[in-house]
Amino acid sequence: MENNVTMDKLVSLCKNRGIIFQGSEIYGGMGNTWDYGPIGVEIKNNIKRAWWKKFVQESDNSFGIDAAILMNSKVWEASGHTTSFSDPKMDCKECKTRHRADNLIENYCAKHKIENVIPDKMSNKEMEDFIEEHKICCPVCGKHNFTPIRQFKLMFETSRGVTEDNTDTIYLRPETAQGEFVNFLNVQRSMRAKVPFGIAQIGKAFRNEITPGNFIFRTIEFEQMEHQLFCKECDDEKFYQEYKQKAWDFLKMLGIDENKLRFKDHDKLAHYAKNACDIQYNFPMGWSELNGIHNRTNYDLSRHQEFSGKSMLYMDPITNEKYIPYVVEYSIGADRLMLAVLCNAYHEEKLENEDRVVLKLAPFIAPYKACVLPLMKKNHSEKAKELHKYLSKYFMCDYDESGSIGKRYRREDEIGTPYAITVDDETLNNGTVTVRDRDTMKQDVVKLEDVKDYILSRCEF
Ligand SMILES: [Zn+2]
Repeated sequence: MENNVTMDKLVSLCKNRGIIFQGSEIYGGMGNTWDYGPIGVEIKNNIKRAWWKKFVQESDNSFGIDAAILMNSKVWEASGHTTSFSDPKMDCKECKTRHRADNLIENYCAKHKIENVIPDKMSNKEMEDFIEEHKICCPVCGKHNFTPIRQFKLMFETSRGVTEDNTDTIYLRPETAQGEFVNFLNVQRSMRAKVPFGIAQIGKAFRNEITPGNFIFRTIEFEQMEHQLFCKECDDEKFYQEYKQKAWDFLKMLGIDENKLRFKDHDKLAHYAKNACDIQYNFPMGWSELNGIHNRTNYDLSRHQEFSGKSMLYMDPITNEKYIPYVVEYSIGADRLMLAVLCNAYHEEKLENEDRVVLKLAPFIAPYKACVLPLMKKNHSEKAKELHKYLSKYFMCDYDESGSIGKRYRREDEIGTPYAITVDDETLNNGTVTVRDRDTMKQDVVKLEDVKDYILSRCEF
């Protein structure tokens, strides 16, 4: 049994098995957009559901929201995105490709083992000079002939307005967090919430950035799952440590191999952050960020108080103390997590007579919990269809009657269906079916009336 996954193998499996397709594929695609297919949307929904269960349903004092993607532009002034959320880019005059100056420098320094060069701390002029001095080349054509650096905004802009000459610039949100911050008072009052409490949200965000194209790892449109914990200043470190552990435990619960996970403290903190770390996963392209935990202090609420003119003070009902709460943020990308889950689940196995690819997804993440397979189409399909219809009331259940039973098992293995139910003569004569386990390939004989509970009890989480 081996987990020798590569990105190429995964992309190909995802396309062929209806998990993920290239966005706008028939038009030649559109860079860094991907569409979830019939199997992929089930897996992603199951991941989101598991996250919501853990961080809203089972979490004391946590509340979910679903804020609008389009927000008042003042939100982005308060958050600092309007002025500082941009990338320094330069164009290659030879091949007309566009590159991030900081990435060019980072990659050059990594390759030539030059240490202590931090592009984030350099001015555009300093970066231009460094690139000139070291004759850094275009990674596409290998020539050294760049335009000066220009700052490119990472927020997607659009406009609204009833007439053409009366429009306002608005933005597609570059992060979901501001939805939680601007609703802090609404949630606190309407739910009679007492600090410490959390606000959770799952939603889309958009960033107009150049990405290296590691499948769904970094896309211009992506889904974030975020939990903002509002607490008293003196409790910030306690909750920071608590959410580090909760984030880790959630990944373990999804069945992710702990040997492929590690904490990574941020080398450089954002100016408002007191503490920040990532959990990284060892993807096929190397260790990369899977989720982040940040102590954002009271920066966000203070900024919104300043820009909106609305008081963000919370009054402790016991001590009557008034303060702006601190925020411990836990944020994870649903698409990125899906990629980690798929990489983790992908296995190639040598069986006696053939090889198989199997997605060893935790049953609660699997797109179908079971499939119903009539052994002989002619004799058993009627009974099998009846069983499929019944089971579909309780969970996602597949049905397949075409090809040999071995071929059908292989197809179900490739999409991670944990249980294959075979309907045969025994079903017609004795009312029993055989249930095959995806991972062990062992078969159980189960009575028809027990099949539903047999499956459901094994897919709980
Ligand atoms: Zn070039």
